Amino acid sequence: MRCAYHRDYFVALPPSHPFPMAKYPLLLERLLREGLVAPADLIEPAEAALDDLRLVHSEEYLAQLAAGTLDAAAMRRIGVPWSAALWRRSRLAAQGTLEAARAALDDGMAANLAGGTHHAFADHGEGFCVLNDVAVAVRALRRDGRLRRALVVDLDVHQGNGTAAIFADDVDVFTFSMHGERNYPLQKMRSTMDVGLTDGVGDDEYLELLGRHLEDIFESFAPDLVFYLAGVDPARGDRYGRLALSDEGLAQRERQVLETCRALGRPLAITIAGGYAKTAERTAELHAIVFREAHRMEAATSGMAASCQHPCPAGS
Ligand SMILES: [Zn+2]
Repeated sequence: MRCAYHRDYFVALPPSHPFPMAKYPLLLERLLREGLVAPADLIEPAEAALDDLRLVHSEEYLAQLAAGTLDAAAMRRIGVPWSAALWRRSRLAAQGTLEAARAALDDGMAANLAGGTHHAFADHGEGFCVLNDVAVAVRALRRDGRLRRALVVDLDVHQGNGTAAIFADDVDVFTFSMHGERNYPLQKMRSTMDVGLTDGVGDDEYLELLGRHLEDIFESFAPDLVFYLAGVDPARGDRYGRLALSDEGLAQRERQVLETCRALGRPLAITIAGGYAKTAERTAELHAIVFREAHRMEAATSGMAASCQHPCPAGS
């Protein structure tokens, strides 16, 4: 599976900052080490073109981001200090999702080892999100005539408020968000379908709800491409998540999404979105699960499971 990654996805933050920036290089290292991604499958994105960003974001917001002139309140809302490196990083990650989407349309499945910045609105950022990568990818692909209908499956534990707002009046984009009802953002936007979970929800209830809703969505909507925000903040022990998925529960979740798209022949572009485990290493370990499941599925599909270098336990 082709994966977009750039070393400048990582930007140094103050040591006390809650955002686990180190998870990006740690995830790449892990995927290469475990043989889940081959070096030849890596796509290095350039910075997203301003013309592509303008398909979603306001001219004023982009100009202020480029010049570093957003006011203190706007920066507090984003929650990450502005720097030229942050602006570059945001554009690289947005392009990474666009590259992953293009690769998914060609290959059936692809990923960005970043992205899923779903709290970014057209005219402002918030919740560690600067640019809405999925929205930019949808609009750019549509402009290029490669896409009409897109489905966004957002399983980050926080509601995809920016994505919901951007596509509120767009009948060709189905936004599905399953999130903690009492979690950030306090004021939810309206997605095409929202599933708000109570605190403490664990594997059984989560997986049952997900399966049921995915089935309903695909019965009524036929997307040309599915974007998956595979946030791992619903995991038990996440600093912000308030839910209680086990590692096996997360693996089952990923299988449900991947296998549903595969069975229906819907191309799938994966972004990693949020995750706030106790350490960045643990967060990267959780993000690796979706890649392990994708690898296993691809190996099984191509009939190469027997010769696979990676340990793929039978029957899972
Ligand atoms: Zn989140």
